[in-house]
Amino acid sequence: KGKVIIIGAGGVGGVVAHKCAQLSDIFEEIVLASRTESKCKAIASQIKRAVRTASVDAENVPELIRFLEKEKPFMVINVALPYQDLTIMDACLATGTHYLDTANYEPRETAKFEYKWQWDYKARFKKAGLMALLGSGFDPGVTNVYTAYAAKHEFDEIHELDIIDVNGGDHGQPFATNFNPEINIREVTAPCRHWEEGSFKETPPMSVSRSYDCPESVGTYNIYRMYHEELESLTKNFPTLKKAQFWMSFSKNYLNHLEVLQNVGMTGIEPILYKGKEIVPLQFLKAVLPEPSSLGPLTQGKTCIGNIIKGVHKGKEKKIYIYNICDHQECYKEVQSQAISYTTGVPAMIGAKMMMTGEWMRPGVFNIEQMNPDPFMNDLNRYGLPWTKINL
Ligand code: NDP
Repeated sequence: KGKVIIIGAGGVGGVVAHKCAQLSDIFEEIVLASRTESKCKAIASQIKRAVRTASVDAENVPELIRFLEKEKPFMVINVALPYQDLTIMDACLATGTHYLDTANYEPRETAKFEYKWQWDYKARFKKAGLMALLGSGFDPGVTNVYTAYAAKHEFDEIHELDIIDVNGGDHGQPFATNFNPEINIREVTAPCRHWEEGSFKETPPMSVSRSYDCPESVGTYNIYRMYHEELESLTKNFPTLKKAQFWMSFSKNYLNHLEVLQNVGMTGIEPILYKGKEIVPLQFLKAVLPEPSSLGPLTQGKTCIGNIIKGVHKGKEKKIYIYNICDHQECYKEVQSQAISYTTGVPAMIGAKMMMTGEWMRPGVFNIEQMNPDPFMNDLNRYGLPWTKINL
C-alpha cells in the first residue's frame, strides 16, 4: 500500500482516479497530474475522497523528475498518451518509482505499435529493482490475462487466438471516437498485421471483415481485422500460437466518415504548412472532434470484448470463449464515464493493486500476460468487469 500518481486526466484517467479512490486501504494517497490541471480538478471534484491534483508536462523529463522527487510515490500509473511512455519511464528510473501503462510507446512521426522501445528498458529496470508493467488496460490488458489464464488452466497448448472487441454503444454523435481520437485513428488506418505460422502477415487496413453474434443479446456486428499491439507480446510469450488475430467492430457510419476524412487528407500524421505554421492534420482533426470524456452521459448500449481460443487439452481439440460485457450507462452511473474508459481504467487500477500489494512485484519490464493471471481474474469479478467462460 502507499501513494500513487496518476498521469493523464482524460477519459481513462478519470476512471482510474475513481477506482483507486474506492480502495483507500491500498491507495492511501492519490495525486492526479496532467498537462491541464483544470481537467484533474474537475475529476477530483467528482470524488468523495481527497485527490490532490498537479500540473506536469510528461514529456519534460527534468520537470517530471522534480515532481516525482517531491511527491515520492510508490508508483506512477501512466494513462496519458503513448508518446509519453518513455519520458515517464526515464523519470521513474531516475527517482526509484515503479511504472504501469495501458498502451505501448509510439513515436509521433510513425504509427508503429511496437514494444521494442519499452523492452529496451528491461535491464535498467531490473538493475534498479523497479517494475514496469506494460499494457494493463482491456486490450491490451485483460485480453492478455484471459490468454494467460486459458493457457494455464484450460489447455495443454494454445494454437489459435481471436481477440474480438465489439462496442455496441451508440453516442448519437455523427462522428466521435471513444478514446483519444488521434490514437484511435492512427490504429484503424494502419495496415493490418496478423500472426500466422511463425510470422506477421500484412494486409490492407480494414480489408477483412465478418459478422459476429455477441452473446447475451448484445447484438450482431461487423468486425474488422486489424493490428493491435498485444499480438506482438502474446505471440512471443505463447510461442505455441499458430494463428493470432484481432478484430474490432465499426459501424457503417464510422467507416464512411473515416473514409471521407482519409480521402481529403485529414487523418495524415505528417506535418503540413498552413499559413506559415506547421500543423499535423490528425491533431487538428482531434481538436474539432468531441472529447471522448464528453460522450459519457450520451452513450447507450454495451461493449463485449473477449478471446476465442483454440488448442489441445488432454489430447483433444478444444475451443473456448472468455468475455466481458459492460454497459455504458452503468459505468456512467458509477464513475461518470462511458464503458471504453471504464474497461481500460479498471484493469489499470487492478494492475497497480497487484504491484502495490506485492502480488506481482518483480523487478524488470513485463507484459501483463507474464504475471500469474489468477489474482487479476478474481479482481476483475470484484471490481466491475466480471467475466464468463464458455466452451464452444
Ligand atoms: P485522453 O486524450 O482522453 O486523455 C489523455 C490525457 O493525457 C489528457 O488529460 C492529456 O492532457 C494528457 N496528456 C497528454 N499529453 C500530456 C503530457 N505531455 N503531459 C501530461 N499529460 C498529458 O485519452 P484516454 O483517456 O482516452 O486514453 C489514455 C490512454 O489510455 C492512451 O494512452 C490510450 O491509448 C490508452 N487506452 C488504452 C486502452 C486499452 O484497452 N489498453 C483503451 C483505451 C485507451 P490534455 O487534456 O492537456 O491534452
